[in-house]
Formats: sequence, C-alpha cells, structure tokens
Amino acid sequence: MKIHINAGHGGKDPGACGNGLQEKNITLSVTLLLGEELKKYGFEISYTRTTDTYIDPLNIAQKANGDGSDLFISIHTNAATSISANGIETLCYSLSGEESKIAQCVQSELITATGFTDRGVKERSDLVVLNSTSMPAMLIELGFITSKSDSIMIAKSNFQQRCAQAISKAIGEYYGNSKVKEDYEMREKTEIPQWQTDGLRNLVKSGIIADEAYWSNKMDKSVTVGEVLGLIGKLVK
Ligand SMILES: [Zn+2]
Repeated sequence: MKIHINAGHGGKDPGACGNGLQEKNITLSVTLLLGEELKKYGFEISYTRTTDTYIDPLNIAQKANGDGSDLFISIHTNAATSISANGIETLCYSLSGEESKIAQCVQSELITATGFTDRGVKERSDLVVLNSTSMPAMLIELGFITSKSDSIMIAKSNFQQRCAQAISKAIGEYYGNSKVKEDYEMREKTEIPQWQTDGLRNLVKSGIIADEAYWSNKMDKSVTVGEVLGLIGKLVK
C-alpha cells in the first residue's frame, strides 16, 4: 500500500506565520517524521517535497495520482486573526466518503495524543489537493500557529514526533496492521518518566492545575501521555 505525504506550502510560500514560526518548516518536519513512522508498518511512502520548494496544488495532486498512491495526506498548521483560536482539525473532500472514516480515526488519535482542542473532521470540497486527488485524501491542520499555547507545542520536535506517531497509529489501525497495537501499548506504558508525573503532582497539589482530586486520582492509576500534554497545554494558555 502506497501513501503520498504532502508537506504543506514551501519555497516562496511560507504558509501561515506566527509566534516566530513558519508553517512550511513545521509541515516538512512533521511530514518526514510521519513517513518514517509509516514505513515501520510496511507502508510505501512518497513525498511531494523533502526540501524547501514550492509546488502548486494541482501539481501536488497530480504527483500523488501519478505515483499510484492509495492514500493522500497533506500536513498543515492553521492560522486565524483571533489569537484565541486553537485546536486540531482534519479536512476531507466529503463527509460521506471513505476519506472521512480515515480522517475521523486520525483526528481522534491526534486529540488523544496531544490533548489539543478537538475541532473535528470538516468537509472541504473546494480544496484542490482534496478534490483533484484520485484516492482517499485528507488535510490535517495540526493546531494554530497563531495561538500561543498551540505554537509552543507545535515548535517542539517531540510534539511533532508524537503527532506523526498518532497519525501513523490511526492509519495502521484503519488498514488492519497488527503491529500497531503492540507498539502503542508498550509506548504508553513506558513513555512518561517518573519525574514528569511527580512534577505534575506537585502542580496539582499547589493548586496551579485545577481539579486536584480528579488529577491526583488519575496520576495514581494511569495517566496517558496525551493527558499530560493536555495539562501542560492548560498551564501555558
Ligand atoms: Zn497551510
């Protein structure tokens, strides 16, 4: 199975800019990480670009069509004039096609992994990369570059890695890849260092994080990486 990954924007087109970041750099970085993650599950990967170059939307779609790709993923970050707009959303051509089922899996996995606001899956039949590609296609907006709290996370390479892992997990599961479940059960168990949960416990105790009883209880049982990131997100907002 072949997957074409498009890093949004590039070259003369920086995409959205905010908080010292340029969208084209974030999208390229996440795209390359995502490609590596998907390769681990045996998917064959092609890229629209692996360097800082501009390719227009119709050529992007034609590249994916020409590759004989079975799935198309375009990586973006969002922007708004209001700095309070935040969260992750996934766009697809139609909410009734197969693409929306895959997009839904990707969206919910990203929300679990990041704790970001869930803006849902949205229909965008007007976007060239979605309406001119001949395979299921989605465009993922990994948070708002114009939001302080989103952009702090988006800039971090471990956050980008986590997004790449969440997307590949969703796709692997959707296509019934058996290696995915094992990998992720292991990862959730081992990924949070003790000092992080201890630090969070102290923040909860001191009242900096609200809902003390809820979080103390959670941290005694099993807190996921997504929940930890969600808490950190609340702190920087
Ligand atoms: Zn974009």
